[in-house]
Amino acid sequence: MSNIQKNTKKSVGKTMHYLDYAATTPVDRSVFRAMAPYFTKQFGNAGSLHSFGQAAIAAVDTSREMVARAIHRTHRDGFREIIFTSGATEANNLVLRGVVSRAREQGVKKPHILISAIEHESVRETARALERGGASLTVVPVSQDGVVNASVLARALTPETVLVSVMYVNNEIGTVQPIRAIADAIAHHRKKYNGTYPLFHTDAAQAFTYFECDADALGVDCMTLSAHKAYGPKGVGALFVRGGNPSALLSSVTTGGEQEFGMRSGTENVAGIVGLAHAFDCVSARRKQEARRMTALRVWLEDALTNAIPHVVVHGAQGARAPHIMSVACNDRLAEEILIDLSIRGFAVSSGAACSARGVTPSHVLSAIGSADCARSTIRISIGHGTTKTELRAFVRTVKTVLA
Ligand code: PMP
Repeated sequence: MSNIQKNTKKSVGKTMHYLDYAATTPVDRSVFRAMAPYFTKQFGNAGSLHSFGQAAIAAVDTSREMVARAIHRTHRDGFREIIFTSGATEANNLVLRGVVSRAREQGVKKPHILISAIEHESVRETARALERGGASLTVVPVSQDGVVNASVLARALTPETVLVSVMYVNNEIGTVQPIRAIADAIAHHRKKYNGTYPLFHTDAAQAFTYFECDADALGVDCMTLSAHKAYGPKGVGALFVRGGNPSALLSSVTTGGEQEFGMRSGTENVAGIVGLAHAFDCVSARRKQEARRMTALRVWLEDALTNAIPHVVVHGAQGARAPHIMSVACNDRLAEEILIDLSIRGFAVSSGAACSARGVTPSHVLSAIGSADCARSTIRISIGHGTTKTELRAFVRTVKTVLA
């Protein structure tokens, strides 16, 4: 039996408090209800011409309109600007690989891409793979607060820059990036060279639940979204590509049945797509109120933890953090030990990013903000719709015991 299996056994049967909403969220009940018929009664393949298929494609089309509306793209092009994928990872791969490949086809010899130092692995590793394949890559540093400086980024743009990718909200430390300011700097650069490039992409997987992701207000050309960070199902996401003709900007990375305007071959995940659209509707309706509630809870928790435990350090800019994520360095204890202790006592948190929980290398995000030395003792606490003050009070008491 592995250590993970043993520890899971120990916490089974206990009331568990979930404080890992940045890793994933539970599916909202109304979302689950909306999805259910597409598993059993309306199970048709959206590519079939008979009535089963037509019901499926109608559901996909309606969902596409709902997602376009959710990012304020309500005009005619909006519908063709949404490409459904298997999640944010695939959307990020599609945009990075797709833009570089199309740029090459259009004669750019050595496409240059620019990303921030704190991007999710699905951007970072894809960018590195593209670099190995002959593209050039610049990784723009962030301040000690974990925020990209738009002027620093602007200075790294070159006439060969085809894509800039900067996330909206960081998944490990929760810092919010100045997307509009970066978009303005890019627009200025683009005007100088009178062309299409550079395109500007943001990974908004962690942002959508609490931030208005209005594509025009943000000034982005492409945007990544994921359902399971927003009370929708796992395994489904979307890529917004401005203009309604995605193949003008991106080459497809999958070949096959040409679904999703030729951008993503493969039978549509109808239930998942319906789930994503409904989840986005639900979180949009609750966004303002929940953002306010989460911010108050997070600020309370940060104060309570720093007052209760000496030497606790909260990472990331105080004034530029998302409502739901906090990352704290806990003395000299190993994060893995702390989180197993917490799990046994009924609290689920994570060490750094969930995606790197199996890795042993220190987080690149904490290294980028100059906190590599406390990376091994850093835990991420992320709250969500189900979180209450009572629960957080109990959490602070438990952390105090664990770290005593
Ligand atoms: N980008 C960010 C910012 C994320 O937080 C995550 C999930 N950890 C991803 C991308 C990958 O999302 P998905 O699980 O939908 O592939």
